[in-house]
Amino acid sequence: MSKFGSPVAAATDGAAEASGPAPRMFIKSFGCQMNVYDSQRMADVAIGEGYRETERIEDADLVILNTCHIRERASEKVFSELGKIRELKEARATAGLSTTLVVAGCVAQAEGAEIRRRQPAVDIVVGPQSYHRLPSLLRAERGVETEFPPESKFDHLPPSTPAAVRARGVSAFVTVQEGCDKFCSFCVVPYTRGAEASRPAADILAEIGALARAGAREFTLIGQNVNAYHGRSESGGVARLADLLAAAARVPGVLRLRYSTSHPLDMSEDLIRAHAENEKLAPHLHLPVQSGSDRILAVMNRRHGVRGYLEIVARVREARPDIAFSSDFIVGFPGETDADFEATLALAREVEFASAYAFKYSPRPGTPAADAAAQVDIATKERRLATLQQLLEAQRQAFNSATVGRRFAVIFDKPGRRPGQLIGRTPYMQSVHADVDASRMGELTEIEITGVKPNSLAGRVVTQPARRSREVA
Ligand code: SF4
Repeated sequence: MSKFGSPVAAATDGAAEASGPAPRMFIKSFGCQMNVYDSQRMADVAIGEGYRETERIEDADLVILNTCHIRERASEKVFSELGKIRELKEARATAGLSTTLVVAGCVAQAEGAEIRRRQPAVDIVVGPQSYHRLPSLLRAERGVETEFPPESKFDHLPPSTPAAVRARGVSAFVTVQEGCDKFCSFCVVPYTRGAEASRPAADILAEIGALARAGAREFTLIGQNVNAYHGRSESGGVARLADLLAAAARVPGVLRLRYSTSHPLDMSEDLIRAHAENEKLAPHLHLPVQSGSDRILAVMNRRHGVRGYLEIVARVREARPDIAFSSDFIVGFPGETDADFEATLALAREVEFASAYAFKYSPRPGTPAADAAAQVDIATKERRLATLQQLLEAQRQAFNSATVGRRFAVIFDKPGRRPGQLIGRTPYMQSVHADVDASRMGELTEIEITGVKPNSLAGRVVTQPARRSREVA
């Protein structure tokens, strides 16, 4: 692996190899699942332009940095990365090789032309809504595209080639919705990704069908606020996320469905019911809460309270008793007192999360919370973060330990360290290692959990078919 990290998997179909050396691309992706998906779609665009993937940035004629603005000091980190790539570009130029350097993603959207002014080695700056314009930018070898274009990029992006899908494995992300109208006071997404927009259901189902025909089996429907999805239905009406999940479950080849990331306000009754009715929907829900204090939730502009969140958890559990929850927390939000933080701990204890991410609040320029006067000092933030993480880690371990002896349908998607071993995921997103015949890759395989390791589970194949139960999702 290159010192710059691993690229997005994006094999070509071999045609370019057969017809002579093709230019090579290296895409490095930061941040969320949306960026992973976007990187794959940019790879599809580059494949269409004749590129093939390389795992070594040093060999790349095209380098795309797909950036994330959620990271702390995101812009500085991007410029530091760009400085290293500039040296590489200069070394390649000395050897008579040209390199096109592209900055994409949310930092590109936020900084625009300023990126090329500060780092002249950058040739192209392209925002998340303009990836379909990459072919013309690549042909021109320079340019800045950070407007929100009137047309949808999804109508113009080329489909993934079957070889690219195979290289990415059996788990696929499909963006169904982008942007956010919620304007939480700490978040840059509404500014970098724009207003909520949903893709038509028919387009999404066609994409899922094509991915399934190429071998994808597990699908995560993604969006910044995915459960606000409201796309055009196949009959011309409005499809909600529950409708889309029901239709996706009927696509041949689809074995398991997930969706992420959700806002509590958009956990509608039909979506909760989908957890009871949709057999392919995994019993796992990532539902960020951010804080357990109503006062802090109000200044975060989350537009839900603690009681409302707990009611949703209870209703989903009623619909699907074996559901597991994960969440996101921010500690040390401006104005957070010890009592507010205690309320967050109390909420976490009440829900008992299977896993969760906790972060220290750090200001994002341009967001309302960044200018709040009552910033919490760093020592307090660190102390609270350590306390919350300790609790969440204990809950994660307890959840994992409780799976020992249980049986799950696992989808294996990559080889393990030892010959004969494969790695897959339970319906709860836990990584499982087991001795499984390689022919089971991409199938639902019944596994009994035999042990727990710090970050994964060990399992064995159940030879005697287990009684069909709701446990085997
Ligand atoms: S709902 Fe999520 S994406 Fe939207 S503003 Fe809030 S944190 Fe950001």
